[in-house]
Order: sequence, then structure tokens, then C-alpha cells
Amino acid sequence: MRETDRKDISTLDSLISAATKITTISHIRPDGDAVGSSIAMLSFLESLGKDACSVLPHNYPDALSFLVTDGNRKKILIHENNPEAAEVRLKESDLIICLDFNDFSRTDMLEKTLLESGAAKILIDHHLNPDTDKFSLVFSETETSSTAELLYQILMLLPQTGGDAGRLPALSATALMTGMTTDTNNFANSVYPGTLLMASSLLAAGVDRDAIIENLFNSCREERIRLMGKMLFKKMKITEDGVAYMILDRKTIMKYGIKEGETEGFVNMPLSIADVRMSIFLKQDKDRFRVSLRSKKGTSANLCAKRYFNGGGHELASGGRLMIPDDVRSPREAAEYIRKVTHQFMKGNE
Ligand code: 5GP
Ligand code: MN
Repeated sequence: MRETDRKDISTLDSLISAATKITTISHIRPDGDAVGSSIAMLSFLESLGKDACSVLPHNYPDALSFLVTDGNRKKILIHENNPEAAEVRLKESDLIICLDFNDFSRTDMLEKTLLESGAAKILIDHHLNPDTDKFSLVFSETETSSTAELLYQILMLLPQTGGDAGRLPALSATALMTGMTTDTNNFANSVYPGTLLMASSLLAAGVDRDAIIENLFNSCREERIRLMGKMLFKKMKITEDGVAYMILDRKTIMKYGIKEGETEGFVNMPLSIADVRMSIFLKQDKDRFRVSLRSKKGTSANLCAKRYFNGGGHELASGGRLMIPDDVRSPREAAEYIRKVTHQFMKGNE
């Protein structure tokens, strides 16, 4: 962590001490890092005796349900399930900790509530281009594997832990390891020296990594693997510019009964092919295609997401959307659009 961030630790400590109602919030369709860092912070704050809650705009994927226990279930407010409870909680909070997003718009329906809230707001995030003006205190570090890793470093600097991972609540430690593991794709991407140091300390503190791996990667439904096979075999296309794309349409989603989070990781697979520089995965929703982009070093998924897919994220892993019907009207048009814009993009890249 940068030196300036270390000075901010005492400000963070004072803000937490002074606050009576603290709420964490993360981004729409929360992934392992969003849910992991939220639950890690929630458990930590509760261990300090604080009145703490976590708000998530959407429900968490089944694969992360092992982080939700009888002890914290009531403290996790899912906006799509109970909008009023989540909004009232945010309005009543005097401290809001924003985790794993760079801009209020990433909370979708909760953007307005955040803008109108008079609470002190803290950002802890690892995405590019954070909207820093909206926060009282910002911890933004892009050279880190995950928000979970940045949060771990922050928690280690707080007096309550004194740098000893063994003093974290057990669930915090597990949730931090989970967030880092999913955002690095199980140590395949964005691994820094600090990432391995964190993993080592958490293991030494008793985190059961085997159990985390079992829950995250070895507990899915058969349908996910069947669909993955179909997408790779039948639907993946590779353009002459080295861009692989797959479009998952509504009909196929219904046919396989695919749930939120069950296509996690599909976008990474085509990058195994030597000639593929960038992979794009589209998933059709009611009024849009949700877009995931991954690239290899030298090609910017972030720039491509910003320029052509109304999104952004990290240099090599980004997301965005194509609205139906304003941007494209059908899977076929989406395919044509991808071919056209990635041709422009990859030519400009040469
Ligand atoms: P995923 O493909 O896993 O949904 O997202 C990859 C990365 O891009 C994540 O870090 C996510 O936070 C970010 N991301 C996804 N969708 C958007 C978006 O619409 N806008 C921005 N700015 N970032 C996004
Ligand atoms: Mn993240």
C-alpha cells in the first residue's frame, strides 16, 4: 500500500470509532470479491461491537453461500429482495463503506440513495478511475489482486489486529481469502508479492483453503459444465483479429436453467488459445446483453469496454453492456457489432 494510504489509516480508525451505524455496500451482481470483502468487513466491524450491515444490490451467487451463516444472514440486506430495508439502512447509517467499485453508478438503483446520503463515505477499491470526489476517504490501489487484498492490508494496519492475521475473526479471514481467490482466478491473474504474503498469513492463521476451493470450484451443477461445453464447441467464434466471442442467448439460458453466477469464468476459457488476444462473452438479459471482456497483456480490455461496450473495469478484465434495442436488437446483430468494433479496435492496437 502507498505511504499516503497508511496516513489515512488513523482517519479510518477514527471514523469507525465515531460511527454508530456502519453499512458496507458493493456492486451489482456481486462476485466473490464483492461478497468476500463485504462479509470480511461486516465480521470485523461486528467483532468491534459495532452495529454493522452489508448491502448488496443483487443476491449473491449460490457458490458464495458458504460465507453466509446463521450469524450474519440478517445483517446482509439484498436490495433486489427487499429494497426498502436496504434503502432505509443506508439512509440511517452515519458511515458507509463502499467496496469493490469505482463509481456510485455501479450500485445501479442505489446510486441516488448514496448521492443523497449525508453519511461519511469510504472507498476501498482496486478498479481504474475511481470517482474520488464523492468520498470522505479513499483507498484506491489498482496494483493489487482484489479489493479483498487491499482490505486485508488495511485491516492489518488497524490497531485491533496489530498486523496479526490470527486476530481477524475467522469468517473475515475466510471471506478475504475467498475474494482474493476468485479475483485472481485461483492465483492465475493479477498476483502480486503482497497477494502471496496475504495468502500465506491467512493460511497460517487457520483459513481452510481446501474448503474454499471445494465450495468455489467443485460444487457446481452439472448444467453449468454442459453449457460451458456447448458454448465452447458450438458458439465460440474467433475473428481474424484474434478476438474470441461467445453469445449466450435467452433461449439457451432458459433451456439449461442457468442461474446468476453460473457462467462465471466462461469468458476466460478462449484465452487459452495461443492466437486469441481478447475474449468477449455476452449474456442476454431482458433489456440488454451483459458483456464480459478479458485480454492478454498488450491489449486493453478496459479501453475496449469503455469505447464500445458502455463499461470499464481493469486493464485486462472489464465489463459493460449493449442495450436492446438501442445498441443491438438480437444476438445476430450483437455478433456483427462485435466483429465490426473489435476489428477497428485491434487494427488501432497494432
Ligand atoms: P465481469 O466480466 O466479471 O462481470 O467483470 C469484470 C470486471 O469489470 C470486474 O472487475 C467488474 O467490476 C468490472 N465491470 C463489469 N461490468 C462493468 C461496467 O458496466 N462498468 C464498469 N466500469 N466496470 C465493470
Ligand atoms: Mn474485485
